Amino acid sequence: MANYRCPCCRKITSDTMDLARHFLGQTDRKHKDWLKTKGLSYAQLIRWQGTEFGNKGYKALAELLEKEAPRVE
Ligand SMILES: [Zn+2]
Repeated sequence: MANYRCPCCRKITSDTMDLARHFLGQTDRKHKDWLKTKGLSYAQLIRWQGTEFGNKGYKALAELLEKEAPRVE
């Protein structure tokens, strides 16, 4: 089964939603800056989580991570 590694740290998980939750739980510059390079804003994703139904912030990030996060065995 493919696992995904966080592009900014050593966190590994098989589920991109789980990785998205991890990612938005980090407040260091490395994680925030990576989002910026992908055209997303940490503050925007957090705001979506707080104001929109259906985990919109996590889902948008999970989709991105599915494409961009390194795969590991
Ligand atoms: Zn991370």
